[in-house]
Order: sequence, then C-alpha cells, then structure tokens
Amino acid sequence: MERNSTTEAIVLVNRPYAELHRRVTLLSPDLGIFEAVVYGGRKGKLGGGLEPFTSGLFYLYHNRVRNSYSITDVLVNKDVRTLKSDFERICIANALAEIVMKMDGGGYQMLYTLLGDSLELLDDKQVPSKRIFTLFVWQFIQGMGLVDEFTCCPVCGKEYHQQQVLLFNSSLHAPCCQECADIDVPLGPGARRYLVVVQHLPIGTSSTVELSDQAQMRLYRYMVSYVTTLLGQGLKSLSLLTTEEFTQ
Ligand SMILES: [Zn+2]
Repeated sequence: MERNSTTEAIVLVNRPYAELHRRVTLLSPDLGIFEAVVYGGRKGKLGGGLEPFTSGLFYLYHNRVRNSYSITDVLVNKDVRTLKSDFERICIANALAEIVMKMDGGGYQMLYTLLGDSLELLDDKQVPSKRIFTLFVWQFIQGMGLVDEFTCCPVCGKEYHQQQVLLFNSSLHAPCCQECADIDVPLGPGARRYLVVVQHLPIGTSSTVELSDQAQMRLYRYMVSYVTTLLGQGLKSLSLLTTEEFTQ
C-alpha cells in the first residue's frame, strides 16, 4: 500500500489528542473502522470537516513504522446540519455510531451504506428519528445474520402462527417461540408483520411505510432492548433520552 491514499469515510467520533491535535474514528468501506490523527486539528483548516457524522473523501498518510494514519485533507461530501441542530437526532446518531463501533466486524460496505443512508434520513426533519433507529437496528441485525425469515422458530424449527407473540433467545441473539425463550422481550404479531414488510427494502424506502406512533414507540423500545441484549449493556448515547422516552 502507498503511504498516501484516499478513502470514502464517515466520522464516528472526534476527540482531542495531546494538546493541539485530534483523534478521529472513521468508518470506511475499504478500511473498516479505524483511527486517524489530525495534527494541529483543533483549529486547523480540517477542523470543520471532521465533525461527527460528516462523510467525504479522506486523504490519508500511513506511517508504516507505527502503523497509524493521519488525515492530510478532506473533501466533505455531506455535512448533516439539521441533524446537528436537534438534540434527539444527535443522541440517535451517536447511538448508531456506538453500535457500529461496539459490534466492530463483518461487512463494512454494508455498514457504510446503512450508516450513511441513516444519517441522511436523520438530517431530514420529516422522518421521525426513533423510526430511523428502529430501521437501522433491524437492517443491522439482518446484516449480522441474526434473523432471516420470520416464519419459524430458529431454535426448535416450529412454524409461527399469525397471532403468535415471539420472545427472545439470548444465546442466538434472536427472536424465537415462547418455549425456546430465555428472555422476556416480546414482539407482537403487528410489529412482526411490519418488520417483514420492510425487511428487504432500502432504509429510505422503508422509512415511508406507514406506522402508527404507538406502534413505532413499541418497536423502538423493542430494538433498544434487542441492542442491549446484543451488546450486553445499554447504549450510552440513549441514556439521555430515557426520561423523555417514558413520558411519551
Ligand atoms: Zn422454538
């Protein structure tokens, strides 16, 4: 690999590094999740191009001895201004970045497209942010191969009937029938039908499929529980939304 290279990427996190620099965590379809340093980045010309959730073409320098990257320039493709002006949207976007970083692995092209599309939707005030979270997690767990068709229990193979409420199996990290469940995270028949309808649609299209506010809130809570089970801990980025979530 050349010492200088370029890659498409999305900024996940940007934090101070030493006195004058910044350390940025990025998601790229080619390089996966990686860190790069911006020297003098706290007030340099790159400062604005490197805020979280910005996507673009990053010019990198690879130090082979230390096996570390630094960013020399960036061509910003999308800056998500609406997202950044809304507290709930920022929390949700941080939660998506948290999921991507904590579950590091798998198909980076899929993750990059899914995260990029989700951030673009979060930047559109017309689309409810909790719905984007729900759809992101749903596509994410499918991308991880945890859920395929919703027709039968992945543990015992028994076919589901239409009105069946599914529970959860913690070793498979997947919904299952009541008999095979060890966690009480229920998924009702209406919610299951909705998830099947949007299953193979791009996230932008699935966000337009009708869903009542109440059903959306239930599905959002379901996906929060799903991720909590998957990660073995709650999402830090959502903890600030908890109080407000329960008043709805
Ligand atoms: Zn079963």
